[in-house]
Order: sequence, then structure tokens, then C-alpha cells
Amino acid sequence: MRKCIQLFILVLFVLPILVFHTGVNAGAGDDIELGFDPQDLHKQMWEDLQPRLALRQVLEVMSEAKTVSNWQEYDMDYYKIDLDINHVTEIIYGSVDTYGTVVISSLDSVKINLLNSMTVDSVYNLSGNLAFSHLSDHLTIYLDAAHVQGEQFYFTVVYHGHPAGSSGFLGLEFSERNLLPLITTLSEPMGARSWWPCNDISRDKMDSVDIIVTVDTSLVVSSNGLIESEVDNGDGTHTVHWKSKYPIAPYLVSLGIHPYAVWYDYYNYTPTDSMPLHFYVYPDHNMYSRTYFDGIVAHMIENLSVPFGQYPFIDEKYGCTHFDWGGAMEHQTNTSTTSSSFGYSQPVVAHELGHQWWGDMVTCSDWHHIWINEGFAVYSEALYFEPDSGVDYYHAYMNSFEYTGGGSIYINDTTSVWNIFGAIVYDKGGWTLHMLRHVIGDDLFFESLADYRDQYIWTAASTEDFQGVVETTTGMDLDWFFQQWIYGTYRPYYRYSYIFEEDPAGGWNAYVHIRQTQSSNPQVFTMPIDLEISTTAGDETQVVFNNAREQNFILHTDDEPSSMTLDPDRWISRQVMWEEYGFHIVSDEPVDGILGDAYEDTVEAKGPTDNNAYNIVAGALPDGLTLGLNSGIISGQPTAMGSFIFSVKANHQDWTYLTDSVEYNVDILPPSVDRPGDANMDGEVNVGDVVFIINYIFNGGPGPILPNWADVNVDCQVNVGDAVSMINYIFRGGTAPALGCVE
Ligand SMILES: [Zn+2]
Repeated sequence: MRKCIQLFILVLFVLPILVFHTGVNAGAGDDIELGFDPQDLHKQMWEDLQPRLALRQVLEVMSEAKTVSNWQEYDMDYYKIDLDINHVTEIIYGSVDTYGTVVISSLDSVKINLLNSMTVDSVYNLSGNLAFSHLSDHLTIYLDAAHVQGEQFYFTVVYHGHPAGSSGFLGLEFSERNLLPLITTLSEPMGARSWWPCNDISRDKMDSVDIIVTVDTSLVVSSNGLIESEVDNGDGTHTVHWKSKYPIAPYLVSLGIHPYAVWYDYYNYTPTDSMPLHFYVYPDHNMYSRTYFDGIVAHMIENLSVPFGQYPFIDEKYGCTHFDWGGAMEHQTNTSTTSSSFGYSQPVVAHELGHQWWGDMVTCSDWHHIWINEGFAVYSEALYFEPDSGVDYYHAYMNSFEYTGGGSIYINDTTSVWNIFGAIVYDKGGWTLHMLRHVIGDDLFFESLADYRDQYIWTAASTEDFQGVVETTTGMDLDWFFQQWIYGTYRPYYRYSYIFEEDPAGGWNAYVHIRQTQSSNPQVFTMPIDLEISTTAGDETQVVFNNAREQNFILHTDDEPSSMTLDPDRWISRQVMWEEYGFHIVSDEPVDGILGDAYEDTVEAKGPTDNNAYNIVAGALPDGLTLGLNSGIISGQPTAMGSFIFSVKANHQDWTYLTDSVEYNVDILPPSVDRPGDANMDGEVNVGDVVFIINYIFNGGPGPILPNWADVNVDCQVNVGDAVSMINYIFRGGTAPALGCVE
């Protein structure tokens, strides 16, 4: 945390300068050197994808419109992917056993994804060959009989071909490194279909998968889960069988095939339990890679298991496999990564590891909500560093990639990969979690993550799913938070000003004015804002809930204050500038009144000095009330019920350009208890009421505000009979006044 003395200097000398330098924002951790540039690393995570995709013009293929399958009608359970891969001819021969369950009343065909660059040779099941059609990158299999709801179907697809996109990057790529074959995959978001037939959507996870690959014996095969077996076929090839027993989305199934150097480390999660870490690295990186991974990846898992819960795939492994792409990809239990410095940088390694929880264990329901993967992974980077490097470092880390541009985190148009993996889902996505943490507090934030994990483990979640969990865990309505940060654009531009005054009742009052000046949407960001007040006894932070474009707050301190800083630790993505305190009506809306009851409330303006005038400039005060010109006191006895809207303008008497006006709405309500006989509404039933009634009837005096309090003999009119009845009651013990019946 910054020290007091720094704050003092900041306020006295720096803040006035800030007025002329928009965008300059003080924040915690500003003086910390990170040693890397997370913003740039996040950019590389997605920008590297672009040139290669552009080359292949594969966007058509990637478009989500082409994802149309009849996925609403079934749920895939299991795939056995058996591939014979020839690195010389670059042809793969595949056979994929597919098991799914029907979720509608009856289903006789299953439509899945497979690009037409692959040739389907046959589809069969135990009943024999099945009819199929393979058109427009969709494979439709006609089952041998209609299957009813809850029934499992099964078929095997036999196919072969050279995967489309394999010389760019979509799905499976054949390439070389140092003249040695290198076959790797990257299928996010919609590339699994280029090399194996599947229901290629993120939310249809298989419960488990077998991946069986036959290749030249010189090649090492890396994939998801653990190795079940490895068999030398005696013909120059060997077959490696990987299996993952955890649910997995199609785009997270991966292969890395190369004469890799393989080394191991362990994550010891109890004194007697450990999980293996596999490193499939380029042979010339065998020793070098240990500098960056050995012991470090295990420590990262340790750090992230504290806020996120145990590593999700603890019965299998975590691994890193080098691949032929400039970035890194969080393949489940086996991150694929470049061998450049990018792939070794700690933020990137932590990011991909964070995805094992957020992205893999819980997957975004569709690509509109990609921040559910990427924002969480970015935030994992900061959470990895925080326990080792401290909270100031955490802030410095977050501050280094605050997103200041437009667009929304929710991706409206997912037809292009360009749109899906923009910087905003990384940087602003990560910041959204950072902000949420402060809004709900550490305890509830991490409790929410745990509940989110429990509720959506092995499945997929949308923004609304996550919001629902957080709202349940915290008991708070947080729609305002998610709407503005996920669906809104930009960030608030705060201008704040304040004056301090001694409180006649003791201590000090701070009059704070906060306004938002952004011209973007939303015009009003609703956020709790920290205000750090420096006093003679030290700094204290008070929180205000800002939910208007212009808003006043009155804070109290026991000790004499000297300055105030808005959001000193930078928990909000914002621009902020201090400005001179102007002239503001600071009081809340006056209280509602009760018909006939004495009323008093005060409108108060604050400015350079107290010498103010107050006037009604529009509408009207409730009948019977007046406004004190110099005091701002509204007082009197309301004589009519209703809702009264009026505007009060305050101005400084000497400097008349200092003005402020506020519109108020004061309701005058009926008395809660009737007082029959209290015709003049002075709170008592006595001779004054007799005089009031007589004056009204005979002398043209004011009529009763509530005629039924004057119609004490209940003849449905106010007349001399009521005066007589009242006299009888007061002086002769006659009948007590009753509530009248005047319409
Ligand atoms: Zn990522």
C-alpha cells in the first residue's frame, strides 16, 4: 500500500496537474516492475492466429453457422478415435466409435460435423452398414432404427483424407521441424471437425475418450489423459493408446507427434500423493525447458489449487507439449505451447494452466461467452502471482493490461474467429473478475468460484450461469454489474471533488461530488467506489455506492481530513480526475409529510462558503409549506394530500454563477389515525375546533382539510349541528365526536 506521505504529495501537487492529462490514473502497485508485458502476451495469444488463418481463408469453415447439427436431440457420451497417420503421404485413416444418448422422444438420424475434405468410407454398427450423407461439412447418419429418449445409439465412422487447413492452422497440421516430422493439432474453436467426426460444439462434452494413434516408430505421440498401452506393430509403426476418463469438449482433444524429448516432474499434493507432469519438448529444448518448467509448473498448480480447488484432472496428469504455432493452447491435461520465449513466459504458462479449471473443467457454453474461458484464464495469471509476490504486485499486474477500448465482452458476432478472440475477452474479461472480487469481497468471491465449480463441473456455462451462482452465493442482485461490464462498452470516466467542514455535532463532514462524463454506453456505471480519506489519524477508506451520473455523498470522519483519493487501489476499470468542488445541493430528497402535521426539512447547498439563497423554480411545494430563502428550510403544515414535484434552485448570494438545482418529489400522506373532532388539525379536540367550525360556517373562514373530522354528528355535512354537538361534548359530557361521512 502506498504510504501517507506519498498520498499527501500526490493530492497537493499531482492532482491539479491531472486535470490537464486525461487518462493518468494513480493506482496501487504503480512503482512495481513486472518483468514482462502481460497486455502484449495476451495480444499474442490471439493475434498469432490471424495471419495463418487469413492465408487459408478458412473462416467460412470456422463459422458457427456451419455448426448446425441436431445437437439438441442427443448428447454424446464417448468417442474412440483410432487414427493411422502417415507423415509422408499426409493422409490419415480414421475410425471413430461414437456413442450418444437420445434426449428427444424419438431419433432416427444423427447429424455431426466433419469437413468434406475428408472422405467417409463407411458407417456401421452391430446391425451392419448404416446409410449416411456427407454434405456441406455435415455427416448425417441414419440409424438402423428409431431410438427413444434415454436410449444410447452407437456407430463407427471410417474415413480418410488430408485434413483441410492442415497447412494453415485448423485442426491437424502436418509440418516439419529440423527436417523431422511434426504433426500437431489446435482445434479451438471449431476445428476438431477437420480431422475427426464429432458434434463439434463446446457444450457437448464426451464423458471420456480413447485416442489411439498409429505412426512411424520414430515418432512420439502426446495426447490427453494417460497412456494405456504402446505396441510395436513390427512393421515400422507403433500404436500409442491414450485415454482420458474425464469429460472433455471436442475442441480440447489434441495430438502432438514428433521425436519429442520426454521428461517428467511431479505435483505432490499430499505427503503421500502425487500427480505426474509430462513434458513433450523439442529435442533441442530438453535441458532448456527444465529451466522454465521443472518445479515451476508444480508450484503453479499448488498456487492455483488454493483459490480454485484441487487441480481438476488429478487422477491423470498435467503436461506441456511443443507445437507448431506461435501461441499456446489449453488442451485438457496437456497444454500445447510454442517453443519461443512466449511459451516459456510465466504468465502464459499460468494462463494455460488456469484454463484447466476455467475452459476445460467448466467450458463456455458457446463462443459468445468466450470470456468464461479467457477472462478467467487471464485472472488466473494474477492469482498465481499474488501469494508469492504480494498484493501490490497483484495490482501492478492487473493494472498493466486494463482494457480501455470499445466493444463488449459478450461477442455478438461469432461467425469470425477475429471477433471471438479479441483482446477484450482477455483483458476486460480478467478485469471483470478483478472488479467483482472487490464488489463482493474476497470471502464471497472465492466462495462463489467454489460454488461455480461445484455446479458446473464437467459441463458448460454462460455469463448468466456464472452470474446466477454468484448471486445465490452472495444473496446480492448483481445484474447491474454483469450488464454493464459484460454487455456494455468502455468504462466510467469519473470526475470527483470534495470539501471538508467541521461538523457542529463533532468530527468532520466530507461533501463529495462524483460525476461520470463518458459519452459511451452505459452512461451510468453503477459501482461501489472506495474513497480514501487522509486524516490526522491516518488514512481511512469509506465506500459509496455510485449509481447516478451526478451524485453527492456526505461522509463523516472523527479526525480532521486533509485530502481524498477515489479508488486508490484501482479496483475499478476507469479513468478518474479530481476537480475543484463547485456548488452542489447535497441534501437528500426531503421527507414525506402527513396532512395536518407540522413539517420541517432542509435543502442544503455546499460551496466555497455558506451564503446561499434557495428558491422554487418549477412546480410547487405541498400546500401549506414554505421555503426559507436563506435557510433552505421547508416548513409549515400541509393542507392537501398528494404527490408534489418541485425544483429547488440554490445559488451563492455573492457569486451568483454558482448555482445548482434539484427536482424533488414530496408526498403528503393521510394521517395514520383519524382524530374525529380535531377540525382545525392541531392535534387536540377542544374549543378551538368549535371556533374553527363556527368561523367556517358563519364568517367565511377556511374549511376543514378533512371534513369528516368536523362532521362529528355524522350527518354527512359540516354545519352548525356539528358545532352544537362539539359544545355538548366538551362542556356537558355529551356524545364523543365520531368520524363523519362527507363524500
Ligand atoms: Zn487462453
